[in-house]
Amino acid sequence: MTFTTRFAPSPTGPLHLGHAYSALLAHDLTRASGGRFLLRIDDIDQSRARPQWEAQLQDDLHWLGISWDAPPRRQSEHFKDYSDALDKLRAVGLIFECQCTRRDIETAANAPQEGVPEFGPDGRIYPGTCRELGLPPAATTCSRLNIARACAAGLPAEFSETGPRHLGLHKLAAGDLLQSVGDVVLSRREMAASYHLSVVIDDAACGVTHVIRGEDLFEATRIHVLLQSLLGLPTPVYHHHALIRDEQGKRLAKRDDARAISTFRAQGATPQDIRRMVGL
Ligand code: GLU
Repeated sequence: MTFTTRFAPSPTGPLHLGHAYSALLAHDLTRASGGRFLLRIDDIDQSRARPQWEAQLQDDLHWLGISWDAPPRRQSEHFKDYSDALDKLRAVGLIFECQCTRRDIETAANAPQEGVPEFGPDGRIYPGTCRELGLPPAATTCSRLNIARACAAGLPAEFSETGPRHLGLHKLAAGDLLQSVGDVVLSRREMAASYHLSVVIDDAACGVTHVIRGEDLFEATRIHVLLQSLLGLPTPVYHHHALIRDEQGKRLAKRDDARAISTFRAQGATPQDIRRMVGL
């Protein structure tokens, strides 16, 4: 199988040094292995995605010396793929509809139990309020994965990690998923699919064999691997790299314009300067 990886930015702001590091690392590894490098535009959140950010990020990537081996895939052009996958999971009883607002979840989760995590990869762990209500989709705010049933149907499952911090084989454990992930959102009324569902469908559709991305997404990988197992999709090898942080040790955010690649470009930096700044 040809080594195939991708860089998957969301066009919701400028590319910054953290993105440049991720893209250059993935691109370098691909070119060294004779593989395929893909660009995916993660514009599932249409309320925040903007074409001008996509144009700018493509321009910045080209300037950095990065080229992709197929036309970019845009999530906004594949909504049907996501709803088909959701229907498939719904048909086997793994989805429930939820009408909770953020505030409902806060209120229901008010009495934390000692030793039980309150937060997972998506924020506060869902307390299960709507799980057994059998609500019809039309009246609700989102569709959630019933994690207990999903574990019963999808495990055993495992993934290989080649990143420095979590190197090795990771077996998914039902107890861990139940306690520290919970019933994750797979689709919202205003968004065709959550990040978790779309990323799993996209990576499989593009034949991605290696996912190279920031360490902040390591915890979410369990959800992706479980979904792959449930949907009969292959599990890629994962490589979560360290994050580029600012002088105070805080991770760079998209709104951090001071570290935007376009700002460095305007100040006369070269692609080699950017490589030096991110340690490549
Ligand atoms: N669009 C995601 C992000 O910018 C990429 C996620 C991924 O690489 O899986 O964080």
